[in-house]
Amino acid sequence: MALIPFSPPRIDDEIIQEVTAALKSGWITTGPRTKQFEKELSAYNGNEYTLCLNSATAGLEIMLRWFGVKEGDEVILPAYTYAATANVVVHCGARPVLVDVNASDFNINVENVKAAITSKTKVIMPVDFGGLPCDYTRLMEVVNASEIKSKFTAETEVQKKLGRIMILSDAAHSLGATYYGKRTGIWADASVFSFHAVKNLTTAEGGAIALMLPPPFSNEEVYKFLCIYTLHGQNKDALAKMQKGNWKYDIIEAGFKCNMTDLVAAIGLIELRRYNDDTLVVRKQVCDYYYDASFKLFLMRM
Ligand SMILES: *Cc1c(COP(=O)(O)O)cnc(C)c1O
Repeated sequence: MALIPFSPPRIDDEIIQEVTAALKSGWITTGPRTKQFEKELSAYNGNEYTLCLNSATAGLEIMLRWFGVKEGDEVILPAYTYAATANVVVHCGARPVLVDVNASDFNINVENVKAAITSKTKVIMPVDFGGLPCDYTRLMEVVNASEIKSKFTAETEVQKKLGRIMILSDAAHSLGATYYGKRTGIWADASVFSFHAVKNLTTAEGGAIALMLPPPFSNEEVYKFLCIYTLHGQNKDALAKMQKGNWKYDIIEAGFKCNMTDLVAAIGLIELRRYNDDTLVVRKQVCDYYYDASFKLFLMRM
């Protein structure tokens, strides 16, 4: 019997060369490769600002904290997901409210979401399970409905600015998937991708927040704030400090530490450039192979 390996990463010469180039450049932490990867992810997904981090878990928690989610708040998420989706809610001191998924696609059921909304609900975290996008149009309709909006109790400046429940997509599985012909990353207020070793695009460990906040938010401003917030509240990163006469920085708040390194961004750059024409094509072939085999098995049993 042949063993089928569990999602092995592709570590070939192209990857090794790019990581080696990063090593040789002397720039190993957040720098030009991370910034380039962010730009290419934005171009790929069709949003303007994307922040790369060391995991999707960090991205989800950072967005909850940015929104001011705390003790006494509720966050609605599907019962069927990886533990990270619920854990980050617990870390913020809030209560994860689990609702059941659809039998058809294993994604969060919108009617169940509606029924679970209370005046304590601050965020809904749909999960694009197995890469299949959730019903974002209907979820947006729900949070924008006047009777739901009137239940929303804004407690922070950011919450007042949005004026409704935030939709934070756990898009850990769905980079490259499309919904109404457009890629995930643009349908929720923010979408978080994972580049963990077993995910469809890997950087060993890594994640990204694709920002798509509606006006009056400036996604550029939020991006700049999050760069600082994810680097100890330090108002200049290592790259900015390297500029002449620019060594001095301030700590403007007690931030977190979850930035992406250029060493892993090097892997991401190579993987993203061959994602559509290579990785996704092979994945589809593997999928068809399983589908075919299971269908034959099914017929044999009849
Ligand atoms: C993998 C995964 C995460 C966490 O991703 P990390 O990058 O490992 O933090 C979150 N949600 C889902 C649904 C996942 O599968």
